[in-house]
Amino acid sequence: MKKVFIEPGCITCGACEFVCPQVFEVTDISHIKKDADLDKNKDLIKLAAMSCPVNVIKFEE
Ligand code: SF4
Repeated sequence: MKKVFIEPGCITCGACEFVCPQVFEVTDISHIKKDADLDKNKDLIKLAAMSCPVNVIKFEE
């Protein structure tokens, strides 16, 4: 997986961090952890994107 990013509009619900804490960290809004292993966690990243209630988690494979 090449890239993961959060579009504007995160409502800080925490779902992405709950699904994949290896990659997502929710503070003021959700952030992608700097040292996150995107390839190793790609299935969980996709699940987190599906779990986001406002659909702002985007990724490029
Ligand atoms: S699941 Fe979506 S709305 Fe919820 S914290 Fe993560 S990015 Fe934000």
